[in-house]
Amino acid sequence: MLFRSASFAGEKHRGQLRKDAQSTAYINHPLNVARILAEEGGVTDAEVIAAALLHDTIEDTKTTQAELANHFGAKVAAMVVEVTDDKSITDSVERKRLHVMSARHKSRGAALVKLADKTSNVRDVGVRPAVGWTDARRTEYLMWAQRVVDALPIKDHRLKVIFDEAVKKSRKLIAGHGRTATNHMG
Ligand code: ZN
Repeated sequence: MLFRSASFAGEKHRGQLRKDAQSTAYINHPLNVARILAEEGGVTDAEVIAAALLHDTIEDTKTTQAELANHFGAKVAAMVVEVTDDKSITDSVERKRLHVMSARHKSRGAALVKLADKTSNVRDVGVRPAVGWTDARRTEYLMWAQRVVDALPIKDHRLKVIFDEAVKKSRKLIAGHGRTATNHMG
């Protein structure tokens, strides 16, 4: 099922790129989220890892819940729906507020996927930020991700510690970058 999920996600995200300077293939992101869950988080539930591989397919590609349920079962499909943002809400402040609110009510599996997703994004904001993001915007993202993770109904998992470390490391990288920029100007 995991190889089928990875292959399905690869097909769906074909041609999509991350927004970093290296234009990383989009599929690297869900693959990394799945790896964080399994390798760093010790998660062994294959349905949760499959949901991680598929977590952006509904949000960012033309994939439906029914399609996922057909291929991977209702449970995996439901977890992906749980981690999908409602893009019909165009106000980004409102969407972010709802994102934090809904974090409180996630199932265990969906909460773990969210946690690994935010860990991956927080690391990327440190080492390969989106092109054009200022240090202020990067820092803002870290604070927002922290709010989402704090709202998740997970208090006791080692992935929480891993997330906190990722935030600290990225903060340092951003601060270091700020100093370098100032030095160059001086
Ligand atoms: Zn993601």
